[in-house]
Amino acid sequence: MAGRGRRAPRTAAPKLEGAARMCIGCRGSFLRDTLIRIIRGPAGEIGVDRYLKAPGRGAHLCYSRGCIEAAVKRKAIGRAFPGVPGPNPPPDVDTLVSQVVDAIDARIRDALTLGRLRGLVTSGADALDGAFTAGRLALVVLATDTAENSAHRWAAREKAAELPLVHFSTAAELGRTQGAETRIAVGVTDAALAQTILSEFERRSRVLVAS
Ligand SMILES: [Zn+2]
Repeated sequence: MAGRGRRAPRTAAPKLEGAARMCIGCRGSFLRDTLIRIIRGPAGEIGVDRYLKAPGRGAHLCYSRGCIEAAVKRKAIGRAFPGVPGPNPPPDVDTLVSQVVDAIDARIRDALTLGRLRGLVTSGADALDGAFTAGRLALVVLATDTAENSAHRWAAREKAAELPLVHFSTAAELGRTQGAETRIAVGVTDAALAQTILSEFERRSRVLVAS
């Protein structure tokens, strides 16, 4: 705290500065963790750094369709990687959006897989019904190809119990995250994990829907 003769910090810059990056779309400055990180491969190909861990130079963008559009329009992605031969033609909005959505979806699948390993999710009809009845579900992830009667049952529960419900992936893909052949629904029993997955869905809709 102040007083006691302690030296004042050399600059007024908050610690946060190191973690802040500029969005090449809107040019606003935001925490690195809240942004998309675009990277470029040796052949100039554009990719999304899914876990913000890839070495080398990166360009940052808000999870916003508007910022992606602005960056493409201003050719800001090419400029962010000087000296690297670029792809020809440069990536368009739809390509970038689908790469970002793929990265988000992969993170959600990883979260569900890790959730299983840590005992934070449950799946299989009986286990799910039991968790629902016990009020242990924080979120239900329902496969997009779920049979209509099951989808209706979960929709009714969503309404009656104010249980968050998201539609994601196929039953085969959900099954893979749970070490099973197919899973029509996965129940998240951990509030923090549910919040993580819901935030990824929020990012997804901000990227997909024009604002
Ligand atoms: Zn932005």
